[in-house]
Amino acid sequence: MKYKRILLKLSGEALMGNRQYGIDPERLAEYAQDIKTITDKGVEVAIVIGGGNIFRGLAGASNGMDRVQGDHMGMLATVINGLALQSALEDADIPTRLQSAIKINEVAEPFIRRRAMRHLEKGRVVIFGGGTGNPYFTTDSAAVLRAIEIEADVILKGTRVDGIYNADPEKDSKAVKFNNITFDDVLRKGLKVMDTTAFTLSQENKLPIIVFDMNKKGNLLKVVSGEKVGTEVNL
Ligand code: UDP
Repeated sequence: MKYKRILLKLSGEALMGNRQYGIDPERLAEYAQDIKTITDKGVEVAIVIGGGNIFRGLAGASNGMDRVQGDHMGMLATVINGLALQSALEDADIPTRLQSAIKINEVAEPFIRRRAMRHLEKGRVVIFGGGTGNPYFTTDSAAVLRAIEIEADVILKGTRVDGIYNADPEKDSKAVKFNNITFDDVLRKGLKVMDTTAFTLSQENKLPIIVFDMNKKGNLLKVVSGEKVGTEVNL
């Protein structure tokens, strides 16, 4: 395997499958199977999960809700998704721990870096819920932050698009995919990979990002074994 320790970022929307809202248990079970193929090969896996399938603070704010209040709801949504993912992983016989950035001790461990790293060394998948624990941030920022903290080799952003294109491939049939691209080129060309805060944090810490289609079975294993799938952003 090319990577020994990875941080997988899954958006909340990815968990919806074909639904409009919430969680599709079949999609979760598929993800769990894909994750099992790499943990079986000894890859250490940490996951940051989003909350957009349930609630986003910005959406609340655009309807007149206090932004911070909405962000607290969004962070709780990521904990709900984390619990669902934990349960799907356990059904696939993968040992897991859920750590939350906001205290919710009866439900999840608090985020403790050393403990998270110990879990990984013991072969447990660690799911990080609650984002960064702060309003005005996203789970992409949480993903980069946690990846750096646990010294992950790479951040894998599992999406429904198979990489980074020069235009939106869902809208423009002529859009061309990049196999590799530098952080500087992403910024120069104004491409959207992650929000700027998350992206810059990754760049400053020399943490490569691979964007790939997580909905294609077997892709996760390919990415982790170093096959050219998706787009790699590097220095
Ligand atoms: N959120 C937050 N701080 C964080 C991470 C997330 O306040 O560090 C809130 C924010 O309201 C966000 C919501 O949680 O809209 C869900 O996260 P995100 O939008 O990143 O989820 P995704 O798009 O990955 O599903």
